[in-house]
Amino acid sequence: MMIGGGCLCGAVRFEATAAPLLVAFCHCGSCRRHTGAPVAAYADFRRADVRFVAGAPTRFESSPGAWRGFCGACGSTLTFEGDNLPEEIHIHLGALDEPGKFAPTKADFPELKLPWLCLGAQGADA
Ligand SMILES: [Zn+2]
Ligand SMILES: [Zn+2]
Repeated sequence: MMIGGGCLCGAVRFEATAAPLLVAFCHCGSCRRHTGAPVAAYADFRRADVRFVAGAPTRFESSPGAWRGFCGACGSTLTFEGDNLPEEIHIHLGALDEPGKFAPTKADFPELKLPWLCLGAQGADA
């Protein structure tokens, strides 16, 4: 299996060699600001299954131990890494080449979902 992806300008490219552990929405305020979107959606990969084949995300520590990665050239939202989850890397779904293959199955922070947002996918519209 090879899952490819990258940023809008192509400076950062990555490949994952195994399916994600989890695909989820996140309604938290930090993800909302980081993505500029009403909700974030991400695929949680084992860190060991992902390698950057061009460039690397620029990282910003949005809260202690929470690292948000983006392309330093074009600004595309790319990753989330938590110091408490060193074996994992979340890649935002929109950065994948074929995001349609990875439907979210749960939602983090459903209590923070914007009231007008309707998702309905896989029961994740909690
Ligand atoms: Zn870029
Ligand atoms: Zn979040």
